[in-house]
Amino acid sequence: MSDPMPAGFFGHGSPMNTLDHNRYTDAWRAFGDTIGNPRAVLVVSAHWFTNATAVTAMARPRTIHDFYGFPEELFAFDYPAPGAPEVAELVADTVKPRWVGRDRDSWGLDHGTWSVLTHMFPDADVPAVQLSINAVQALGYHLDIGARLAPLLDEGVVIIGSGNVVHNLHRIAWDRPDGAFDWNQRFDDAATNQLLHAPEDVLKLLEHPDYELAVPTPDHLIPLLYFAGVAAASGSRPEGLAHGYTYGSLSMTCYTTGAAPRTAAPHSSSEPQPRPDAAPPEQTNI
Ligand code: ZN
Repeated sequence: MSDPMPAGFFGHGSPMNTLDHNRYTDAWRAFGDTIGNPRAVLVVSAHWFTNATAVTAMARPRTIHDFYGFPEELFAFDYPAPGAPEVAELVADTVKPRWVGRDRDSWGLDHGTWSVLTHMFPDADVPAVQLSINAVQALGYHLDIGARLAPLLDEGVVIIGSGNVVHNLHRIAWDRPDGAFDWNQRFDDAATNQLLHAPEDVLKLLEHPDYELAVPTPDHLIPLLYFAGVAAASGSRPEGLAHGYTYGSLSMTCYTTGAAPRTAAPHSSSEPQPRPDAAPPEQTNI
């Protein structure tokens, strides 16, 4: 039997990372380069936040442009990775007795998925499946589903969460492209300490004094819970892949398990990313 696939959590930040090349996108690319020949990639994206747990089960998932105020070229971006209906069935079987709906015509691949995958698998040749976040469930549910998904790593499926450990759009500071507020740094550091040492206890982060500011809504943190569940259940120790901040109130921190990525030397973006000036930060849906 071949080695298990790795898992990862990726701070996706601005959707402009799709078109950009910076130290984060270099790290995502390096992670992809370590993966031999995956059967599929399963992504839990912060941006499919709905009232049920569902898995994309169509053969050709569409590219969803679920954000506002960004340049036209981002709305024209297409990520034509095939779906994997048989992997969707495998996902549903693997998490039983938890129930997973099969989405055949509603969702597709949203920007939380393709902004990362276009760097990780630039040829769009790895079948991609998304798992929704059930917004009505308590946080412990997501940690549990993550743990149940862990056997898929042995079936050739890479499992990734795409969100942001710290994500507060009401506190965005566009003039701090690589900056962080102190509460962002404190919470992000606490999350890293928790993930690297005891991912199974990730929900202790809810007691952190900066939780309310760092996680005003849970959508971007929940993909981290899936990753923590996978890591704990598979006995893999998470490692940091990239670390940093953007716009004051977002953390870009990324983790992996089971891979030895060759992280590129840090360098800055060649150009500042365009700001979504047509929409206030809290309405960009980033
Ligand atoms: Zn986002």
